[in-house]
Amino acid sequence: MSETPAEVDEAVAEPRCRCGYGRDHHMVSREEDHTWFSALVIAIGISQKPIRVRWVCRRCGDGIGEPLELR
Ligand SMILES: [Zn+2]
Repeated sequence: MSETPAEVDEAVAEPRCRCGYGRDHHMVSREEDHTWFSALVIAIGISQKPIRVRWVCRRCGDGIGEPLELR
């Protein structure tokens, strides 16, 4: 019942920036977004879960795929 076209599956499985780098590439940084409050708590040395994780290419500056929302 839930068949998706193959081309949609591929786009979701392997997002890439315009240089063709995937999320595992060494030129791609994993960036975490925090609320201002958790950023403050991190500043005093207590780790916090990010609200969002993004992958950004350091060469072209593109985001790789959709950010991962954690709440
Ligand atoms: Zn790139």
